[in-house]
Amino acid sequence: MIGTDELLGKLPTSLWIGSKQVPGSGGGTFPVHNPATGAVLVEVADATVEDGKAALDAAAAAQADWATTPSRERAQILRRAWEIVLERRDEFALLMTLEMGKPLSESQGEVDYGAEFLRWFSEEAVRVNGRYRESPSGRGRILVTKEPVGLTLAITPWNFPLAMGTRKIAPALAAGCTMIVKPAAETPLTMLLLAEVLRDAGLPDGVLSILPTSRSSALVAPLFEDSRLRKVTFTGSTTVGKMLLKQAADRVLRSSMELGGNAPFVVFDDADLDAAVDGAMAAKMRNTGEACTAANRIYVDNAVRDEFSAKLTARMKSLQIGPGDAEGTQVGPLVSAKQLSIVADLVADAVDKGAVVETGGAVAGDVGYFYEPTVLTGVPADARILKEEVFGPVAAIVGFDGEAEGVAAANDTEYGLAAYIYTAGLDRALRVSRALEAGMVGVNRGIISDVAAPFGGVKESGLGRESGSEGIEEYLEIKYIALP
Ligand code: NAD
Repeated sequence: MIGTDELLGKLPTSLWIGSKQVPGSGGGTFPVHNPATGAVLVEVADATVEDGKAALDAAAAAQADWATTPSRERAQILRRAWEIVLERRDEFALLMTLEMGKPLSESQGEVDYGAEFLRWFSEEAVRVNGRYRESPSGRGRILVTKEPVGLTLAITPWNFPLAMGTRKIAPALAAGCTMIVKPAAETPLTMLLLAEVLRDAGLPDGVLSILPTSRSSALVAPLFEDSRLRKVTFTGSTTVGKMLLKQAADRVLRSSMELGGNAPFVVFDDADLDAAVDGAMAAKMRNTGEACTAANRIYVDNAVRDEFSAKLTARMKSLQIGPGDAEGTQVGPLVSAKQLSIVADLVADAVDKGAVVETGGAVAGDVGYFYEPTVLTGVPADARILKEEVFGPVAAIVGFDGEAEGVAAANDTEYGLAAYIYTAGLDRALRVSRALEAGMVGVNRGIISDVAAPFGGVKESGLGRESGSEGIEEYLEIKYIALP
């Protein structure tokens, strides 16, 4: 097992432009913090507009060759990268715990999940196909081919520092696209380490650049304006996603958007309550609640509400809070002081409006950014926590009477990413799954992410799908060739 000092001592902290570490064009550095202590971990190079241009130049120069590299060769590079990430599992896991805060066991899970995109899309790379048909008019033949979209900009969030990167990088490279990644300023280190892995796996010069920056909008705006950029793929908040879509409109830039969620978790009166509590714990507490799929609004039929609330409260009370790299930790710190105050404000607002705190409800300790696992009951409909993403370890429970009321409450949001239901009835499971306005529905399951399934949302939760066999399509253009 690698130690923190050894890991930090050998970490790449320069910009990664065109498959090389470069110091950058004089943008200086910015600090990356450990959220468990608030201390600075390392200083990382801060990309400027000039660095963005250098990355574009490198990617544009590499694009044609990469697009025509046999898909089997592209696949082999991704497959090799999957192997290397797993060989370096301890390093990636510790690094994510240090820069983002999640418990080490969850970081290890993310290494496996994040690496899996590299393997999955190495397998998809060689299966891109088109179609052929004769025109029904009898006046010609129709050939449909798929080509890489081209140079793509990826902007990623801090909550899954590896997986949110590989879920974009792997399909882009598989399809034959070059890519510039702008990771979140809170967690730039994991992507820099991944760039090293992809170089070692044989990725040619220029194909991938990683640009950490503390000046996201200044760096990104000129990239959007450059005609060599053909696509943007963004994972992050709905607010920033809307701004980027407006910027993309000026060049009709192809856009994929994985945005915010505010998942309902609906427990019907026929559900196995113990299983529902297990599912709620997984759906709520994965990543300390900092997941776009997190179950934030827990709707429970009034017939079983008190029993469910008591069981969930007991489980939340039993969780051990601590630094992610400490033995036995189940709940790590939130990523930043800003995130901590957002969570505290949402709880305060709910309590002011009449919600009851069953457990937790306060900041924990005075070092780092810890918040107690919290259960709120009797949350009134006008509480902000039912409308806004909480992104923290807070479960808000609301009662309902009957299926129609439960479904209506679940759909009462502008978000539509994930939804969860617990019921013993197959008919109800299928009927409610259809009625829910969400891109993904978990039936009697609290964890739904799967590399082989299409991930994405409806309504204001996004455009497009990542992973699954659908994921590579986001990086392909369709061309119709009319033949005589
Ligand atoms: P965020 O929107 O604040 O930031 C996301 C990324 O955008 C970061 O890299 C950030 O630096 C960058 N950014 C911010 N402002 C920008 C601007 N003006 N121009 C260019 N780039 C800009 O989100 P976050 O706080 O990092 O992540 C949490 C959010 O991500 C939550 O809303 C969560 O639901 C969402 N999320 C969605 C999914 C999904 O698949 N749908 C997955 C994970 C996280």
